Amino acid sequence: MNPCKCGHLWDEKRICTCTGRQLDSHKRKLTGPLSDRIDMHIKVLPVDVEKIKFQDEGAGAMSSQEMKNQVEKARAVQRYRYKGTIYSDNGSLDEKGIREYCMLNKAGESILKKAYDNLNLSMRAYVKILKVSRTIADLEGVEHIGERHVAEALAYRVSYWDE
Ligand SMILES: [Zn+2]
Repeated sequence: MNPCKCGHLWDEKRICTCTGRQLDSHKRKLTGPLSDRIDMHIKVLPVDVEKIKFQDEGAGAMSSQEMKNQVEKARAVQRYRYKGTIYSDNGSLDEKGIREYCMLNKAGESILKKAYDNLNLSMRAYVKILKVSRTIADLEGVEHIGERHVAEALAYRVSYWDE
C-alpha cells in the first residue's frame, strides 16, 4: 500500500502533496481492524535503482536463491511437525495449536507480555506475533522459540502509524 494518497509521504526526492485531512483519512482506512488482520507490517522506503544493484553485489547479502532455500526448509519443518494434525503450517494454527506449538521460554514470554501491555496490542495481534515468532524460529532451523524470535516478530507489528 502507499503511505498516503499521493504516494510520496516518505520519499526524499519528491514532496507529498496531501493535505492533513487526506493523510488522516488514508490512515483511518488502514488502521484498526483491517491492519490487525495483516500478519506483518513493514515500512518500505523508496529505493534508487542504483542502490538495488549495489546491494545485490554486496558481500554478506542473502541471494534470492538462498532465501528460497531457507523458506523451503522452513516449510518442510512445518509439514513434518504438523503431519497427522489438522494444521498445515504455522499460519493455520488455532488457539489450541498455538498453545501446543508456540511455547515461549521465560524471556520470550516476558518480552511479549511487556509489549502487550505497552503497545496496547489486541488479542488478535498477540496471536499473530506468536505465529510469526514460530516461523522466524523455523527459518533459523531452531526448535524452541527464543527471545530474539519474539523481538523480531514484534518489530513487524509496530506500524509507522504508531510512531
Ligand atoms: Zn501524499
